[in-house]
Amino acid sequence: MDISSILQGGYHHPLARTWQGRRQLTKSMLMYPIFITDDPDASVEIASLPGQRRWGINKLEGFLAPLVKKGLQSVILFGVPLKCEKDMRGTPADDQSGPVILAIKKIRELFPTVYIACDVCLCEYTDHGHCGLLNADGSIDNSPSVDRIAQVAVNYAKAGAHCVAPSDMMDGRIKGIKKGLIDAKLGNKCTLMSYSAKFASCMYGPFRDAAGSAPSFGDRKCYQLPPAAKGLARRAIQRDTAEGADIIMVKPALPYLDVISDAAELAPDHPLACYQVSGEFAMIHAGAAAGVYDLRTMAFEAVDSMIRAGATLILTYFTPDFLEWLDN
Ligand SMILES: [Zn+2]
Repeated sequence: MDISSILQGGYHHPLARTWQGRRQLTKSMLMYPIFITDDPDASVEIASLPGQRRWGINKLEGFLAPLVKKGLQSVILFGVPLKCEKDMRGTPADDQSGPVILAIKKIRELFPTVYIACDVCLCEYTDHGHCGLLNADGSIDNSPSVDRIAQVAVNYAKAGAHCVAPSDMMDGRIKGIKKGLIDAKLGNKCTLMSYSAKFASCMYGPFRDAAGSAPSFGDRKCYQLPPAAKGLARRAIQRDTAEGADIIMVKPALPYLDVISDAAELAPDHPLACYQVSGEFAMIHAGAAAGVYDLRTMAFEAVDSMIRAGATLILTYFTPDFLEWLDN
């Protein structure tokens, strides 16, 4: 046999196998998505997302303290308003007494070391359930949508969010938010993470159950990207880096590893996030429950594939599990 044919000597030992990855999952790479609702004492199981709940702000201490102890370093907040009056411009999104702003302040006070990102969108707060403001014919009215989304982002930053993450996919919103942050003298105090390549995926179902954010008519295909749109995703990533995004995100993750890899090539100097969405999480759980694979092994294999593709930050509902597994 030729000398160059022999590879197995390099990975015969478990430790040597870990060296074969350019990077490995660490606790600092995990960002935990959590749902905050407007009943302060809520702790409500979300049936389609195993182990995940909707939390009221009075329950955050008991919920997060054990995770922080295990090494939780960052969260991303999603507001789930159930009692508020929704309207066409999503007024409750930045209500000072709404769940997101109250949660930002509460988490900062309780856990000063935890990095707080906030998802920024209007769909949970508009009566029509779309992510922007609409024209009379039901299409997106871009400019006032961007203005309103920027206003919400700035108000989250003013409340103390370390990062704002617009998921709406309106054209030009990264520039609008960045300018808003700068004008509010928060340009150097708040990270802007763009959901740059967010696809119109069928894997958001459990999230919509959790957040109650399904549109009342139509769908989001005129602003979220078509699943086959490799070129459009590349253009969106390049646009958002040019408009001032500090972090680029690809969502969902597992079916879009090539897009993560493209983002790593197109924005090599930015942190690169990917969102392992609710449907991916539910799918991995369902497969494990059906005996297809071991849950932990599959969870690591999925996340390792994202890291291999170039991700440096993973938004995942498996965060509490990984905090445990990375210790054992
Ligand atoms: Zn939305």
